[in-house]
Amino acid sequence: MIQQTVRKFVQKELMPLEPEVLRNEREGKPGISREKKKELQKKAADLGFWGINTPKEYGGADLGQVMQAVLTIEISKTFVPFFFGGYADNILYYCNEEQKKRYLIPTLNGERISCFALTEPGAGSDTRRIKMSAEKRGNEWVLNGEKIFITNGNEADFAMVFAVTDKEKKGHGGVTCFLVDRDMGWRSEYIHTMGEWGPASLIFDNVRVPEENVLGELHGGYQLGLEWIGFHRWLVGARAVGSAERVLQMAIDHSKQRITFGRPLADRQAIQWQIADSAVEIEAAKWLVFNAAWTLDQGEDNRHLASMAKLFGANMGNRVIDRVLQIHGGMGYTKELPIERWYREARLWRIYDGTDEIQRMIIARNLLKGHVKLGDLV
Ligand SMILES: Cc1cc2nc3c(=O)[nH]c(=O)nc-3n(C[C@H](O)[C@H](O)[C@H](O)COP(=O)(O)OP(=O)(O)OC[C@H]3O[C@@H](n4cnc5c(N)ncnc54)[C@H](O)[C@@H]3O)c2cc1C
Repeated sequence: MIQQTVRKFVQKELMPLEPEVLRNEREGKPGISREKKKELQKKAADLGFWGINTPKEYGGADLGQVMQAVLTIEISKTFVPFFFGGYADNILYYCNEEQKKRYLIPTLNGERISCFALTEPGAGSDTRRIKMSAEKRGNEWVLNGEKIFITNGNEADFAMVFAVTDKEKKGHGGVTCFLVDRDMGWRSEYIHTMGEWGPASLIFDNVRVPEENVLGELHGGYQLGLEWIGFHRWLVGARAVGSAERVLQMAIDHSKQRITFGRPLADRQAIQWQIADSAVEIEAAKWLVFNAAWTLDQGEDNRHLASMAKLFGANMGNRVIDRVLQIHGGMGYTKELPIERWYREARLWRIYDGTDEIQRMIIARNLLKGHVKLGDLV
């Protein structure tokens, strides 16, 4: 029932905006404005979609991870940049009572925008190499350094910034997460990418942060960083499933209409096999995503499954979109159709939240070290 309700919402409220989103993005503007996003979030809230996994004490629906997967798949059937209201980064729940008032609650209410700033020019996959320094001066910390590729970094009102507070230890035990308002002095620079929206570099030049803005424990930031990444990882697989389902349907429809050499493309085995392989791979990715979600709902460690769902889902999405583009021929390559847009977006899925190679490293390490035994997976 929930799936059908959100599917209707996507078809009625989001998909009609697609031409406008493409037009705006091609003019270098955001696909939809902040106001429009809020208006859509309000409409979704009226249907009960607010705070999908936000605890009930904050007014959320707390629907669990399987439902999160269902909803992410559905809203990924459109490229209209939308997410449900009442959401805040998982690590913001580590805010103390005072911080909650300034950061968690306004983020849940859509009044403030956050960004997660871990990656640096010299430290991407290997996060232990971060160099951003935080030095204690009186009751303040002074931050210096640069972050790169930060999603929402251009729009954010505050950043969750990871900095080295104990040079001896770095990584585990030597990194702290700070809540840093933009008006404390950091600035952002837009990074142009092959996608329709760009992340930002964040520059910290002697930015003074009050000591009460430490999020969680002093020197406990690395763990928070991993928790944030872990939360989003398998959802990349869900995004890929929804997008792949949408574009595969476009290929199915097109193959039935397009005549070559006297017969529709759909009659050709070469085309049928691409459709069949894509459908099987989508289904496989979907079950990896649901297994990762369900395992988390059981309160179990889902990291191994999350890496599998992310790795397979991201690659599946790229393969399916590529096939769909091929089935559309020259038209698939044009900007008349949105396939090329999906093609460019999908490439990112294999990079952020841990690259393909990092997921393989994690999966292999778990097996080689015996953390996970083949056949024992839930
Ligand atoms: C659009 C976008 C948005 C992003 N959003 C955020 C964000 O909001 N916050 C944030 O903190 N970061 C963000 N990132 C950063 C992202 O997580 C990193 O780009 C990613 O983790 C890879 O790091 P890197 O780019 O430094 O590549 P590198 O770590 O330099 O890796 C380069 C290549 O080498 C491979 N590689 C690295 N180490 C190994 C190894 N040991 N064995 C085999 N191969 C290896 C990698 O897989 C990759 O293919 C974003 C990135 C992009 C592009």
